[in-house]
Amino acid sequence: LQKHLCLKCFAPETRRKMAASDHLEPFDDPIDSSADAVCAAVAGRVHLREVGEAKTGRVFPAVLSSISFLGTSSAKPQPGKRNTSSLVVTTHQGSCIMVDCGEGTQHQMMKSSTLKMTKIRAIFVTHLHGDHCFGLPGLLCTLSLDGRTAPLPLVGPIGVKEMVETVLRLSGAYVGYSIVFHELDGTQAHDFTVDLQIENNKAERLLVHASPLSHGIPTLGYFICELTQESKLDSSKAMALGVRGPDLGRLKRREDVVLPDGTTVRSEDVLHDPPPRRAVGLLWDTMRSEEAEAYLLSSSFPCGELARLVQCLWCCRNTDVEP
Ligand SMILES: [Zn+2]
Ligand SMILES: [Zn+2]
Repeated sequence: LQKHLCLKCFAPETRRKMAASDHLEPFDDPIDSSADAVCAAVAGRVHLREVGEAKTGRVFPAVLSSISFLGTSSAKPQPGKRNTSSLVVTTHQGSCIMVDCGEGTQHQMMKSSTLKMTKIRAIFVTHLHGDHCFGLPGLLCTLSLDGRTAPLPLVGPIGVKEMVETVLRLSGAYVGYSIVFHELDGTQAHDFTVDLQIENNKAERLLVHASPLSHGIPTLGYFICELTQESKLDSSKAMALGVRGPDLGRLKRREDVVLPDGTTVRSEDVLHDPPPRRAVGLLWDTMRSEEAEAYLLSSSFPCGELARLVQCLWCCRNTDVEP
């Protein structure tokens, strides 16, 4: 990451942390709400729904919370300083989405005081270069030794299934849960939702746009995007208008309510606007990628932090600046 992103585009605090070692303690970085990456463009383009889709229980929109860098050294680990590529995106519910899993990633996770292996609810792999996935077999086996039974969605370019299954088979590994592979053509863009199964029969859902990147082998960058949250009801306003009991629930479900005296209370008058959607774009090991750039800079995508980051990424790669 450090190699490919221009650090001057990050906030000073983030920069300081990125420049520091990632060995002792991965850091959490709250996603800046100014990066209101409203991804309405993708809302109508969801083609796939099978990634770990919740079969039962309540599904609600996930809220992105933080990013933890587990490894930023690129191809070669630097003991005591940096590990190979991996990061974790965490939701408010504590679900961890791991993106890439270089060798030794599970050690990094275990060192963290905030991240828990049991909360890994999906793994995304950008490409099959070893520094991005040689940590997978070990981590997957540890999850089994820890007693995991919940299925684990694993998203990645075509070949990730063969790679993982071959290593597990030849090494006689026992994995006591199902790995739900979702292989994608790494030369195409994809939109899909992923359901992160949490306790109590609940799942939280995120929208993902996978962009083909320009690298030596098929490589995907991932935009992990929030879906629209539920609007909160201004109940004191609704009560002041005379609404009571189950009618409050109807307003919340965006139904208008007719009171006994014949007046209509419109839901839009008593519902707060939902919070702006946020997204995080995870693009690395790449030259300029037209698809990702077009996606980010599309008219429905405000030119926020995220767009600046990507533009900066291209500029760094093009001018070969070492931060
Ligand atoms: Zn790499
Ligand atoms: Zn690579």
